[in-house]
Amino acid sequence: MNITIKTKNELDLMRQAGKILADTLKLIEKNIFVGQTSAQLDKLAYDYIISQGAKPSFLGYEGFPCTICASVNSEVVHGFATNTPLEDGDIISIDCGVVYKGYHADAARTFPVGEVKWEVKQLIEDTKQSFYEGIKDIRAGCKLGNISHKIQVYLESKGYGVVRELVGHGIGTHLHEDPMVPNYGPYNSGVVLKSGMTLAIEPMSTLGKRNVVLSHNGWTVLTEDGLPSAHYENTVIITDDGVEIITL
Ligand code: MG
Ligand code: MG
Repeated sequence: MNITIKTKNELDLMRQAGKILADTLKLIEKNIFVGQTSAQLDKLAYDYIISQGAKPSFLGYEGFPCTICASVNSEVVHGFATNTPLEDGDIISIDCGVVYKGYHADAARTFPVGEVKWEVKQLIEDTKQSFYEGIKDIRAGCKLGNISHKIQVYLESKGYGVVRELVGHGIGTHLHEDPMVPNYGPYNSGVVLKSGMTLAIEPMSTLGKRNVVLSHNGWTVLTEDGLPSAHYENTVIITDDGVEIITL
């Protein structure tokens, strides 16, 4: 395992990537409505990222065809942007990455479209909250597994499934670096966190069972039971006294 510790300069570049990404996600949120297409959201994201002197991290990554991952309802992650209009009651998870001067940031949000059933809205809220539960009391010197464990305990206490096949990750000059950051696992396990480590922490939850299947497009991951799934991700810096979130 090769976990990089970033210098102050590197962290500053990652913060700039994170700011561009946060603003991209805010722009997308403002443009979500019934009848909108994820292809249009993809174009908005691409144009904005380029206008900021950055590049989309996902476009072309292992052949991925879009700037954003746009995953609707039972799609967990890695959905393609399409020309299918969003419908009232849908939810859409937008995952996006930005690379600025060689440094990546990665973040995801799930948004409701129109009027969404209360239990689905709750799934979105609770998945976001599980991220914050995961980083609560985390600082340099803590074990990585404490993040994983706290996310799992929170989501399972609410009765949700926790997806295991996909995990968070280190991030920096590469979109995906060591270590893996699972959303489940025992307390007090894994590596010791150090100041200057940068992680993408990304709980993925399901309203039904946690089992997932791969779509025939070879990319998109869906829930096996067809029930909705939510995703929430931020890139963070581990510090001596806590966790700095750089994609808000
Ligand atoms: Mg992501
Ligand atoms: Mg990620």
